[in-house]
Amino acid sequence: MSNRANYVSATGKLEVQGLARAGESVVGIVRLADFKRLETLLATNEGSLGFTVRGAMDDRGRPVLTLRLEGSVTLTCQRCLLPYLHELDSETEILLAATEEELAVWDEGEDETVLAAAPLDLHEMLEDELLLALPYAPRHPEGVCAPGGGAAASAQDQTRPFASLANLKRKQTGNEN
Ligand SMILES: [Zn+2]
Repeated sequence: MSNRANYVSATGKLEVQGLARAGESVVGIVRLADFKRLETLLATNEGSLGFTVRGAMDDRGRPVLTLRLEGSVTLTCQRCLLPYLHELDSETEILLAATEEELAVWDEGEDETVLAAAPLDLHEMLEDELLLALPYAPRHPEGVCAPGGGAAASAQDQTRPFASLANLKRKQTGNEN
């Protein structure tokens, strides 16, 4: 269930304290092209991600948000320099301090804390979360990179089917003899 209209203002500010106290969630979809700070990090900004912002009170009675991003982004593999699809499913909990005093005390623990005395910019929160969720050195899983990498790999990809077909034919001929 989306309660977007109840908690997100026309200017995109999310009423985080209210969301947490009510234990409600806001769900939606955001286009990758709208994340300007990610422009140079993505191989392509086509596509979109699903998000959920869930509000709750933690076991110590502190308002907390759980931010979740799901979907895939196209990154450039640092090993072979080819683009690949990176699956994302990240979840982060953020405590919502209402005052500087709360921020100072809560921030001393291991929990991530933001000062949320006023509604927070939803898009900026999602962009921060995505920046943290991206791998520092994006790479294909081990053993998946094309040998040679980069331009050489794409040239090889085009010729390989014919090369292996030729090998196969030679083998079959060899077996028959
Ligand atoms: Zn690779």
